[in-house]
Amino acid sequence: MSTPKTALILSAHAADFVWRCGGAIALHAEMGYEVTVACMSFGERGESAKLWKEGKSLDEVKAIRRAEAEAAAEVLGVHRLECFDLGDYPLALERDDKMRLVDLIRKVQPAWMMSHSQYDPYNTDHMYMTQVALEARMVAQAWGHNPGQKVLGAPQLYLFEPHQTEQMGWKPDTFLDITPVWEKKRAAMEHMNGQAHLWEFYTRVAQQRANHFKRNSGGQSGGRDCKYAEGFQSIFPRTVDEL
Ligand SMILES: [Zn+2]
Repeated sequence: MSTPKTALILSAHAADFVWRCGGAIALHAEMGYEVTVACMSFGERGESAKLWKEGKSLDEVKAIRRAEAEAAAEVLGVHRLECFDLGDYPLALERDDKMRLVDLIRKVQPAWMMSHSQYDPYNTDHMYMTQVALEARMVAQAWGHNPGQKVLGAPQLYLFEPHQTEQMGWKPDTFLDITPVWEKKRAAMEHMNGQAHLWEFYTRVAQQRANHFKRNSGGQSGGRDCKYAEGFQSIFPRTVDEL
């Protein structure tokens, strides 16, 4: 049996992977990829306002957010959900936490990785996550780090769409048609009860990006129809034999 293809999502908070790349996860899971999602925190302090307004305790908020993330991951076909539980607002990784992330990257050996936009003045946890993702990817590629382990190749790091695109300096160069798995993404979003106000917003984002998919695949001259899409910005160049 051949080794399955793998992918790794690095999410600062428990719900980010659902809004920003739930379609990519579900689509690749259906293709046979083993998609691992690593959440550094549950977004318990910064992205759970509704639960705090209801008077929940910190432990209750974390438990609810964990359950929501697990339910969403199940719907999306996530192979493995790893919750680092490092706390949020602010998110901070100690050296040991970073090495745990490096170990995970080496273990998964992802064909591609995904994380947040490189700049996010509204949510510094997000841009910190991407800085840490680049750092961990770099260490995982170093032959001198834990010699004897399988060294990481050069997986692309895709940046998924942030909440207020224009403010983040995020510029997509890849549109992924997620129409075949849209119902799964919508169902996963609806598991995030603490942020019900985002369900319709991210449905509209997917519809807008679908229009960009159509336009960039040929538009009125043979463009492909698409109802829902996700956009990504890639960090590293592609290596090709033909343009
Ligand atoms: Zn977040």
